[in-house]
Amino acid sequence: MPPIPTAELHLHIEGTLEPDLAFALAERNGVELPYATQEELKAAYSFSDLQDFLNLYYALMTVLRTEDDFADLTNAYLARARAQGVRHAEIFFDPQAHTARGVEIDTVIRGITRALDAAPETYGITTRLIMCFLRDESAESALETFEAARPHLDRIAAVGLDSAEVGNPPSKFREVYALAREAGLKCVAHAGEEGPPAYVWEALDILGVDRVDHGVRCLEDEALVARLVADRTPLTVCPLSNVRLRVVDRLEDHPLPAMLDAGLLVTVNSDDPAYFGGYVGDNFTAVRDALGLDETTLRTLARNSFEAAFLDEGTRAAYLKEVEGWTR
Ligand SMILES: [Zn+2]
Repeated sequence: MPPIPTAELHLHIEGTLEPDLAFALAERNGVELPYATQEELKAAYSFSDLQDFLNLYYALMTVLRTEDDFADLTNAYLARARAQGVRHAEIFFDPQAHTARGVEIDTVIRGITRALDAAPETYGITTRLIMCFLRDESAESALETFEAARPHLDRIAAVGLDSAEVGNPPSKFREVYALAREAGLKCVAHAGEEGPPAYVWEALDILGVDRVDHGVRCLEDEALVARLVADRTPLTVCPLSNVRLRVVDRLEDHPLPAMLDAGLLVTVNSDDPAYFGGYVGDNFTAVRDALGLDETTLRTLARNSFEAAFLDEGTRAAYLKEVEGWTR
């Protein structure tokens, strides 16, 4: 079956770092990894909880040093994404994870955008870039990051909020989101993954987000579901991630069908695909098999992704037509 054409709206570029590229970049930059062989590193990818994941995630990130490294990382993702049906990708990056280790934000943005600029021609993929703030860092650090990124705002479509959710509510970042909206950027935020429905309310009412990333816990709050449905606020759901990080125990128990039944505008995404067991096409296949989704439902999910994307109407219409033309 050809992969269904889709937009990927929840993808951390740092989460696409595969063991082979991590080793290659470590060698190129003379960085010593705490793993002797690729096999040893591959074994570490089968972590069992969030802390294990974050330890590996931040350890491997140290191999990303130069503009070329960020371009190579982004190109590797785009090539994989194309093979999995992605036609449009809105890509998160975490500047603070790099500036904290002495890598300039300019280096990060120049490297990623070099790959993105060539993406329509090389991979047939259109893209947007979303700058995320680490919510377990301070509000001041987010503000400093936003100011450091100002010279590059023409390359950035939106701001986002990620990392450890519980204890770091959206309201903490009210000020930087106001600045982003003032600068004409779109806004998204991770909310309602591990955090409570109250965090989704805050993301909507205080940050003014255009989309909610994850949002699966909205189902615990009927009034919140009604609000999200009425506003057609998109939710970027990441099924394989939810299983690996124990948001749900088994994919068979995933609330995706309940979310669709409730009339929510849900999309399927891969989050940190190198770490969570699959890219976006793998997520589609996994939910199809585990949840018994039929062709009509898969098509709805793909259509939703383009509806939720930050696209001009002409491009959106062309992609929606591709979805209608897809057959299993
Ligand atoms: Zn995420």
